[in-house]
Amino acid sequence: MSPHQKSEITSLLSIIAASAVSGAFFNQSLLFVALALFTYIIFMLRNAFKLQDWLEQKKDLPDAWGYWGEIFNELHILERQKYKQQKVLSVALSRFKKAAEALPNGVVILSQYNVIEWVNPVASSLLGINYPQDAGQKINNLIRHPDFQRYMIKNNFSKTITLPAPENADNTLTMQIIPFGYKQKMIFCRDITHIHKLEEMRTNFVSNVSHEMRSPLTVLSGYLEMFSDKPPKDEKNFKLAIDNMYQQAMRMQRLVTDLLALSKMETAPVEHTKSVIISTLLISLKENAEVLGQGKHHKISLQADEQLNLRGNSDELHSLFANLINNAVRYTPENGTISISWQKINNEAVFSVTDNGPGIAAHHIPHLTERFYRADIDRSRESGGTGLGLAIVKYAVERHDGRLIISSTLGQGSTFSCYFPSQRFSI
Ligand code: ADP
Repeated sequence: MSPHQKSEITSLLSIIAASAVSGAFFNQSLLFVALALFTYIIFMLRNAFKLQDWLEQKKDLPDAWGYWGEIFNELHILERQKYKQQKVLSVALSRFKKAAEALPNGVVILSQYNVIEWVNPVASSLLGINYPQDAGQKINNLIRHPDFQRYMIKNNFSKTITLPAPENADNTLTMQIIPFGYKQKMIFCRDITHIHKLEEMRTNFVSNVSHEMRSPLTVLSGYLEMFSDKPPKDEKNFKLAIDNMYQQAMRMQRLVTDLLALSKMETAPVEHTKSVIISTLLISLKENAEVLGQGKHHKISLQADEQLNLRGNSDELHSLFANLINNAVRYTPENGTISISWQKINNEAVFSVTDNGPGIAAHHIPHLTERFYRADIDRSRESGGTGLGLAIVKYAVERHDGRLIISSTLGQGSTFSCYFPSQRFSI
């Protein structure tokens, strides 16, 4: 028994004794004791009611004296402690919410019954959940994709799942559920559209490279197999076969060279300091183009500003200009005209190649810089194209902070222009 309880019992016994003694003067001891007990009970009941009112949150914590005063005092201390703890918890909670709101990933907190309790803004937009309106709804009613439903039913959350975004099926999300607390769950989701597309591109790229390699290899191995079975006797046919094999070997070599050029650009740091004399480079590329187009009698003109030079990587710039000039030569038919120019326009250095070749249909233009995209497959193969030239051009231009603009009219010709900003000029 606590000291307060002991002192309360002592007080009660003293009251009974005092009322019995005072009652004895009037020969009414029992009545006096009964009155005293009645008053005591009223006092007790009054404070018990006050306590109940407080517990039901109707009133503030009451004041009282004696034993009840002690009880109310202790409750007051407990209430203050609870208030302090709540304050600490609410600060921690608001910190957690702020951190989760700032996360680049989506977070949804679910109750033990899979009911939405809280959603951060990223999850709202990725999963199409309206928070706070959708709070209290079951998550299965909002994310209806069968893979997600199965994931929830299986109740095995060790792996992530990948699914199309509920709001936009073109986007891809990964989701993982992390159980915490008492059967609560946290859904962690991330937009991986970009990674997914890159992965798709990589797979397509590998299958395209294999496809491009397969045809020359098939031709080469076919001839070799034929010769090993039966050595050729007819010199004319033998020469034809050797020519063909040479063409296929060259095709593979061009493909490997272009692939290496691309992979080098993907890994090498961007060059900022070295100066490249563009006019000299263009003069030698024009001479090469004349050799390449031998027999087609093209009229090739070059206008180059000798004072206009760039800071950058000479191999990449060579490859960029060579690809555009050589394409013009390869695609422009006999007696066509090709104009190459290098000049300053509105504070930008502009390289352009214009030809009066077959031109390109408008729907192909946005895709021309994709790897292995060809507007005219037969003409590309016939002229020894790898389908990688414009991909290299775009990459090299962007690595020099420039942009590539293609304009073309079917049947009239094309212009490929590269614009470089003044920050890239070399003095
Ligand atoms: P390719 O090795 O096939 O030439 P590119 O990436 O250099 O590959 O070019 C992509 C496609 O763009 C070509 O297949 C061709 O159809 C088209 N193209 C490029 N340059 C020209 C041009 N000067 N005139 C017409 N079509 C062109």
